[in-house]
Amino acid sequence: MTAISADGLSKRYATVTALDRVSLSVEEGEIFGFLGPNGAGKSTFINILLDFARPTDGSAALFGNDCQAEGVAARGRVGVLPEGYSVFDRLTGRQHVEYAVRSKDADDEPVEILDRVGILDAAERQASDYSKGMKQRLVLGMALVGEPDLLILDEPTTGLDPNGAAEIRSILREERDRGAAIFFSSHILEQVEAICDRVAILQDGELVAVDTIDGLRQSI
Ligand code: ADP
Ligand code: ADP
Repeated sequence: MTAISADGLSKRYATVTALDRVSLSVEEGEIFGFLGPNGAGKSTFINILLDFARPTDGSAALFGNDCQAEGVAARGRVGVLPEGYSVFDRLTGRQHVEYAVRSKDADDEPVEILDRVGILDAAERQASDYSKGMKQRLVLGMALVGEPDLLILDEPTTGLDPNGAAEIRSILREERDRGAAIFFSSHILEQVEAICDRVAILQDGELVAVDTIDGLRQSI
């Protein structure tokens, strides 16, 4: 099933066209890379999907539900790793995941989630003690709660050491293999190349290519 579809999506601010008629679709069972330099419009696109921003023109849908009109219906099927996420310094890792389980009305075991993202050892420590990479794993773990059909990840492996990034990639492959759609936004080509089945390249708000990694290589 189509997880994300955008049709002629545009967003203009007073002096900037952040998105210019972007059309794409992301299917369940694929890891889809959204590659573009800072300022290309990646966050704007994600913000529209999550109904934090309204398009100037065009439309976007999650599982066939228009993001603005009826997007709420699909929201429960989506796990998000936002850029600039925050954690609660005074809560432990386990408490964070418990919170996600409760708020999604899911039945995941917090300990199993923490084990999956490789921070079980730190389950009882406060998040203020976590390194940046551990916080990133924790927020990814929260996104995995409830077996979402779509994961929207903003720079999920940026700032991690190579081992950490590889572990995150292996979790994302498992999620894809159970049938989820993965939307992987990044400004770093190597990170997208290392995992994505298909890639869209965004520049100044415009899609300049959508293809498989091999297809893109041949056209460069
Ligand atoms: P990216 O996530 O790829 O770095 P953004 O979507 O954040 O790109 O930004 C795309 C463009 O839109 C940039 O030029 C940015 O400055 C501009 N922009 C984003 N949000 C706003 C806003 N709320 N008001 C005005 N301009 C914005
Ligand atoms: P990124 O490039 O990593 O997406 P930005 O610094 O562009 O981050 O944007 C951070 C936040 O600030 C976003 O919510 C974006 O919508 C907003 N923003 C970006 N550029 C502008 C701008 N020129 N005016 C107002 N808000 C902006």
